[in-house]
Amino acid sequence: MSADCLFCRIAAGAVPAARVYEDDHVVAVLDINPQAPVHVLLLPRRHVADLADAVGADPALVGHLASAAVRVAEAEGLSGRGYRLLTNSGADGGQAVMHLHFHLLGGRAMRWPPG
Ligand code: AMP
Ligand code: ZN
Repeated sequence: MSADCLFCRIAAGAVPAARVYEDDHVVAVLDINPQAPVHVLLLPRRHVADLADAVGADPALVGHLASAAVRVAEAEGLSGRGYRLLTNSGADGGQAVMHLHFHLLGGRAMRWPPG
């Protein structure tokens, strides 16, 4: 854990967040600034900065995050109607927190293209 990384601190329980799922590798919390009726962040417990970092360090972790996202989508009642799963990467991707996370968005129809 990195003491100065917000999402490491959330995963460790040092910063409070509303958890909706957790297992040995992943913690899922409600986004503090939701952009849809369901907006969950899926965080790996280990610190990896972004998708490329994760693929380099532990590619199986990416599959684990995706599997957890499907489970959370089912638990949130989204699997029948659909949802969006994404990760912002780097400056052009709009990544604000440099600890890999997937956004699970649902509960309304998503627009395309994104901003
Ligand atoms: P990104 O721009 O992809 O890095 O997304 C960062 C996300 O983290 C944003 O959607 C924020 O609303 C969310 N966020 C920031 N701080 C917290 C927090 N303390 N608890 C939950 N979500 C947070
Ligand atoms: Zn971290």
